[in-house]
Amino acid sequence: MINNPVNLYVVIPCYNEEAVLPETAKRMIQLFKRMREQSLIDSLSRIVFVDDGSKDKTWELIRDLSYEYDEIYGIKLAANAGHQNALFAGLMTVKNSCECVVSIDADLQDDIEAIPEMVKKYSEGCDVVYGVRSSRETDTFFKRTTAQVFYKLMSGLGVKMVYNHADYRLMSERALNALSEFKEVNLFLRGIVPLVGYKSDTVYYNRAERFAGKSKYPLKRMISFALNAITSFSITPIRIISALGGIACIIAIIMAIYTLIQKFTGHTDSGWASIMMSLWFIGGVQLVSIGLIGEYIGKMYKEVKERPRYIIEEVRF
Ligand code: UDP
Ligand code: MG
Repeated sequence: MINNPVNLYVVIPCYNEEAVLPETAKRMIQLFKRMREQSLIDSLSRIVFVDDGSKDKTWELIRDLSYEYDEIYGIKLAANAGHQNALFAGLMTVKNSCECVVSIDADLQDDIEAIPEMVKKYSEGCDVVYGVRSSRETDTFFKRTTAQVFYKLMSGLGVKMVYNHADYRLMSERALNALSEFKEVNLFLRGIVPLVGYKSDTVYYNRAERFAGKSKYPLKRMISFALNAITSFSITPIRIISALGGIACIIAIIMAIYTLIQKFTGHTDSGWASIMMSLWFIGGVQLVSIGLIGEYIGKMYKEVKERPRYIIEEVRF
């Protein structure tokens, strides 16, 4: 089967990436040239760099590249909005100008050779194609372990996520339009994209080391990223409070029996029994109450997100 060339946009968020940007642009342009020759993509396909309020020469580089090459576009955000927001800004800006969009980091850690495979899967009818790391050997031990703990934790908390997939993925125009229905401000794209649905597939690649420059995710940012991911997707932590309250109530009953036995066998000082019994009882009641209030807050949290309740894929009247 011969497919028509696809009109593809690649969105690349950049924050202080002057050290890698020229190389990234060079490799992307080579890849685009090859993909055009193979009739995978058409001549209107574009590479879009999103400058996320960089403090270095990133934007000047993007601007010059866009003068030099027809296939390079640039978007400059007014201030640093963070990786997820910068990426979202790029996706939302281009979503109705093309057939599909691949998002990828600027640092060449994700193998760009997976892009042709993603496009092929798109041509075969997939709306979302996830880039998945088949190994993380080049990541530091620390990054690897923390990432694994994070994925385990998220799935334990009931968040559907693709294991070892970061923000390297292809999305079709209609998948992007569905994504735009998610109005939440605390963006965690890796969690939202699987909620969109549609036919999806995965493409495997080996993750390389950062080509140049430093990671923009030091420990502090990683922790806040993880906390944001958890609190944007799960009310399980609230449920844990209720569970603790339940446990405290059970202990209260046991303590009450124990205390009464101690009291009637005369092993206690006066006042001890009443303090012991109320201590556990009040603790349990308080935790259960907080958990109950939490349930309502959890409901409100889901309401204020105004997530779409469904996304229609097809209708036949
Ligand atoms: N990035 C961004 N805004 C930020 C931080 C990072 O646009 O505030 C971009 C960055 O330029 C890179 C991508 O997000 O293209 C991922 O960042 P990085 O490679 O530093 O993260 P790591 O791979 O270390 O997790
Ligand atoms: Mg990186």
